[in-house]
Amino acid sequence: MSNHVDWTNTPPPCLPIRIESPPPGESWFCLLGPWAGAWVHWIGPRSLPCQGADCQAVRHRKPVDWFGYTPAALADIIPCSGGFKIKQWDRVILPLSREKAAEVLPHLGRFPGPVLICAKAAGKRVWTIKGIKPLKNGQVLPEPFDPRPILYRVWGMRPPEGELAEGELPPDEPEVIHRNGFDKSR
Ligand SMILES: [Zn+2]
Repeated sequence: MSNHVDWTNTPPPCLPIRIESPPPGESWFCLLGPWAGAWVHWIGPRSLPCQGADCQAVRHRKPVDWFGYTPAALADIIPCSGGFKIKQWDRVILPLSREKAAEVLPHLGRFPGPVLICAKAAGKRVWTIKGIKPLKNGQVLPEPFDPRPILYRVWGMRPPEGELAEGELPPDEPEVIHRNGFDKSR
């Protein structure tokens, strides 16, 4: 057995973070920063980025769609006397379809915020934005983050040299976590 240890002093940034469509029922997502938008091909249940001229021919023939992968915080809501309260906000990447991004766009101002109130029926993949509200004061939110390192990792790719700032690079790991992190939910 090899005694090689790949010591890495820099902790992996922003990982793991789930790419998360809204869960069944009502859920609240607070946007933490601008989305990273990309055209993706659907290969079965998975999405992979369209690489334009470098796209594999087989992949390039598949349907293509745009998604805005948005750094967000999902409210962990717990019931309490007289209603509910937010226990904490969990960092996630919320994929917004082009239609949903267009819906959200006029509400964007200073981050963090706004809060998207999302609804999904049990057993369904389709979800809707029921409301868009400003963030209430006094919320303890996660730090904003760049979603691209996580996307590269989900897609099993290394970012091109120089594209991401030092410290944003995903760990050089052959294994891809959350490989099936995408679904076709919108
Ligand atoms: Zn393509």
